[in-house]
Amino acid sequence: MSHVFPRHCHAELPTAVAGDGCYLIDATGKRYFDGSGGAAVSCLGHSNVRVKQAIKDQVDALAYAHTGFFTTDPAEELADILIDHAPGDLDRVYFVSGGSEAVESAIKLARQYHVENGQPQRRHLIARRQSYHGNTLGALAAGGNAWRREQFSPLLIDVHHIAPCYEYAERAEGETLDAYAARSAQELEDEIQRLGPDTVMAFIAEPVVGATLGAVPAVGDYYTRIREICDRHGVLLILDEVMCGMGRTGHLFACDADGIAPDILCIAKGLGAGYQPIGAMLCSKQIYQAVSDGTGFFQHGHTYLAHPIAAAAGRAVLQEMLERDLIAGVRTKGAAFEARLRDRFAQMPHVGDIRGRGLFWGIEFVADRATKTPFAPHHGLAGKLKKAAMAEGLACYPMAGTRDGKHGDHVLLAPPFIMTEAQMDEVVDKLARATETVLAKVD
Ligand code: PLP
Repeated sequence: MSHVFPRHCHAELPTAVAGDGCYLIDATGKRYFDGSGGAAVSCLGHSNVRVKQAIKDQVDALAYAHTGFFTTDPAEELADILIDHAPGDLDRVYFVSGGSEAVESAIKLARQYHVENGQPQRRHLIARRQSYHGNTLGALAAGGNAWRREQFSPLLIDVHHIAPCYEYAERAEGETLDAYAARSAQELEDEIQRLGPDTVMAFIAEPVVGATLGAVPAVGDYYTRIREICDRHGVLLILDEVMCGMGRTGHLFACDADGIAPDILCIAKGLGAGYQPIGAMLCSKQIYQAVSDGTGFFQHGHTYLAHPIAAAAGRAVLQEMLERDLIAGVRTKGAAFEARLRDRFAQMPHVGDIRGRGLFWGIEFVADRATKTPFAPHHGLAGKLKKAAMAEGLACYPMAGTRDGKHGDHVLLAPPFIMTEAQMDEVVDKLARATETVLAKVD
């Protein structure tokens, strides 16, 4: 009997014993193509020699040094690589152990910045519905994923949620993409005005919405408008690239595609590529300076900040991505993968939308394509798809609650960047078979 507390108490999970490139292998020897990289984590696959060696070397040299006393070469060098490639004037990196910690740090730094800056009345955080920013209480409060928040709502800080830029479900008939982008961004302006511009601390958003919506990028000039609104009101822009960053969408930083830079940026997942748990918060010169000239320290911290082994893994991951030009590969492979997905799924009776960027794709299923009505929750479509895909030897990330936390289903695909063309066919074949099996039985 397993004593590991699984996410789903009654789940009978296969025991993963090995990784081989894009595949996970269970104790019976069955191979599963890692179609979502876990949850957009395993961007380099499961047996990258350079990253494994970097971890071994770092264990031999130094396993741990507390950041209250020391800095280390892997952390400094990883920060240098990130800052060299970061958008705007992001200038400092705060390393943590994962995405939720990065988001918690971002929220607290935003607050401390305003306090240091003589604006302690700035306390409101605005976020978007259908977003996910993590499961610790601050990050959970920021997220708009209704299902994940529901039973914890009495414990959550107040966060004000506006609509996401979710073109498939929210653009009105006949409305142009630009008009929709403008209407969607206007929600931020309206919310800031409602709360009082000088009380708003920050706005947080995922450039490409991952877990809750299934790879939904914004349309038109949405983010240019968002940046302009934040600047005009002195509101900090926090971008959560925990899932969509680190090359996943064909740019090292997802916001590069939108042509804007945030004041604070959160990354994780692909940064450690699954070899080590690591996340990071990057902040602008101005924010760092305010804290440095003020209190002189960020009133936050964790025992494992900038863990040397995690940083060594992250440094090796980025060296692999940059030296092998894997991110350019994400763009070309992404186009080939998209073509296959559209070819195979676009005409299926219950496929409503196929969207994404780079190697980050979502397929949304609907009961009725004409009205875009989602399946009712009792169908349990996402869970059935996951099971059918696992039977085919494909691990992918189906999610329920796409529309409002309860209704709607999508599958999220985030395969390793090293996927070959033949493997693209394999993924698409396996997912198509699983989908056809499940949809044939849906009543
Ligand atoms: N932010 C986003 C956009 C995420 O997708 C996730 C996890 O899926 C998180 C934050 C939380 O990251 P973690 O699970 O590493 O705490």
